[in-house]
Amino acid sequence: MERRIYLDHAAAMPVRPEVARFGRGFPDGFIGNPSTLYREGLAAQEAVSRAREKVAALVGARAPDSIIFTGGATESNNIAIRGTALRNKKSGKNVVASAIEHISVLNPAKDLQKNGFSLTLVPVDRYGTIDLSALDAAVTPETVVTSVHYANNEIGTVEPIREVAAIVHDRGGLFHVDATDAAGRIPIDVERDGIDLLTLSGNQLGGPQGTGALYVRPGVRVQPVLVGGGQERGLRPGTENVVGIACMGEAARITKEEMPEESRRLAAIRDRLISGITGLPEAYLTGHPTERLPHHASFRFSRIEGESIQLAMNMLGIAVATGSACTSRTLEASHVLLAIGLAHEEAHGSMVATLGRANSVDEVPRIVGAVEETIKRLRAITPL
Ligand code: PMP
Repeated sequence: MERRIYLDHAAAMPVRPEVARFGRGFPDGFIGNPSTLYREGLAAQEAVSRAREKVAALVGARAPDSIIFTGGATESNNIAIRGTALRNKKSGKNVVASAIEHISVLNPAKDLQKNGFSLTLVPVDRYGTIDLSALDAAVTPETVVTSVHYANNEIGTVEPIREVAAIVHDRGGLFHVDATDAAGRIPIDVERDGIDLLTLSGNQLGGPQGTGALYVRPGVRVQPVLVGGGQERGLRPGTENVVGIACMGEAARITKEEMPEESRRLAAIRDRLISGITGLPEAYLTGHPTERLPHHASFRFSRIEGESIQLAMNMLGIAVATGSACTSRTLEASHVLLAIGLAHEEAHGSMVATLGRANSVDEVPRIVGAVEETIKRLRAITPL
């Protein structure tokens, strides 16, 4: 049997073996509570502090205390959007986001509308790049928080973050960036980029699922979403996931070290995939041709449907995505693909390949061959 090829790293990254070993290194599987003052607790506190420093270093945060550990990117996005809007509502009741944010940004923003906030969604062009003049018109002194992701998970486009930051800060509001898919793939520096709040996923760095972090620039006022104890500066109450946090920290450290080399390697595979697949009949790249994540290749195919592509590729031993894993079971057309101007039927024929450490350039011919076979077979039976 041919070896399986895994091309859905945006949905789940295998935990790095070094990180798994690191996690097993905790003595006898016993972890103290970091809020206590005796030896076992202090050791746990120390592990969390080390992790904070490693995550801070990955994104250029000077103060490690500006990193809050959470249960994942969804939770970080909720704290960033709800927490800043509710805490700072005296300065305005408008929220701005790009039209192609992840649902874990869009849904809390829509939820705020029930609490008297207005939401302005800013359009993107056909590549998924935010329309800066529309943004300029959308952000007003009433805008408490503006959320634009570093890069999109469905189409791979990297946004002009520094230009966005300049517009947001000109109006005096806060700037939140969801860097779930970009962190560890392209250099991020919260200070240089002008970011007030930054969402990170532990798994996307090769750490465990269900771990995440939120960078909160010192001085930014945020209200907790969950209330309870004073852990994580009161922003994420509850006993810390110590091993998960420690492993996320170690994953961030290794990722930072490997990034320049690994991103170059993945970009070369990506480019071969793109040129192979866009050479097939009625196959098109989605997202930006050059301003895209190094591990991300996304396509659409006329007259076929994403779920069928996923199932057919699976039969050929290859795991690919069709849009975002978070919405794929809803069978609704992706809001991202509609926002870049695709018609509903076009938006349904999408395939996303996100690369990782186990992929190699030798796999490209087999992947392109499988896509060719898949689209030919599906088109022969389609009623479209
Ligand atoms: N934001 C973005 C941009 C994402 O791609 C994802 C995951 N696909 C999330 C947030 C949510 O991550 P999680 O499911 O780990 O909370």
